[in-house]
Amino acid sequence: MPSPSFSLNLLEIDHSRTLSGSPKWVLVTGGEVLCPEGGSPLLSALPTGIGPAGAIPLGTLNGNTISALSTQMTPDGLSPVSLRDLYFRVDEETLAIGGRAVQLVHFDETSRFCGACGEPAYWKEDELAKVCPRCGGIVYPRLSPAVIVLVRQGREILFVRPPRSPPGRYSLIAGFVEPGETLEHAVMREVAEEAGVSVRNLRYIGSQPWPFPHSLMIGFFAEYAGGGIRPDGVETVDVRWFSPENLPYLPGRMSITDILVEQHLRDDGSAEYAAEPGADEKNSGATLPI
Ligand SMILES: [Zn+2]
Repeated sequence: MPSPSFSLNLLEIDHSRTLSGSPKWVLVTGGEVLCPEGGSPLLSALPTGIGPAGAIPLGTLNGNTISALSTQMTPDGLSPVSLRDLYFRVDEETLAIGGRAVQLVHFDETSRFCGACGEPAYWKEDELAKVCPRCGGIVYPRLSPAVIVLVRQGREILFVRPPRSPPGRYSLIAGFVEPGETLEHAVMREVAEEAGVSVRNLRYIGSQPWPFPHSLMIGFFAEYAGGGIRPDGVETVDVRWFSPENLPYLPGRMSITDILVEQHLRDDGSAEYAAEPGADEKNSGATLPI
């Protein structure tokens, strides 16, 4: 199993609609991507009956243009796969491309008209946005930043159990950033709300697009600073410290939770956390970090 990392080979973002190399396509229908049985959503050719009109450029990877297309058809040999299912069957790079495709198709379909004056809006040529020809209003794809924090006290990690999680399933503290907050404020507020404790020495670790439906997870470490842990009874029903030798089930490879926990174990000098064989499958219906 590859170690999760932030060293994803990123798409070169290119807003021109020129196709280069061997163009590839991601077909999106009803918020899901179309894949061949057991395969990747990156298609080398468009199926019969689906043309390139309306394609949304996603970027260029290894010299090959990748575009998204919305379709109502399910061509022979393809079937819709949700991003949550895709998460457990493709690599990190393909998942990122699939997530970008679903998010941009959703943006295209929900921004057809200017929100201010109702005029039909059009894609801007020089950036990823729609513009209104009447009032000049510009709208960008929605992104909802959310913080996720590994609170530690010595070797131990603070986990919480949301009420919707099955018994025994724990998560790191996470929540959406509110208007007017810094990321640091959001971390401190979420930790105080969900676990009743204060933290200090915040350290940014990394971020991860989380297209469920349009989050960006921003991961931190924080040191426990004081207070007695307690669940709030609404967002959390249990709060516990876990030692590296006694970790709860984790969401599995590619999740930012796993990345944060692995980094903590490296800092601690503990043996690398090894997900249980089949843990990804077991957790496929798991509560995701947020
Ligand atoms: Zn307008």
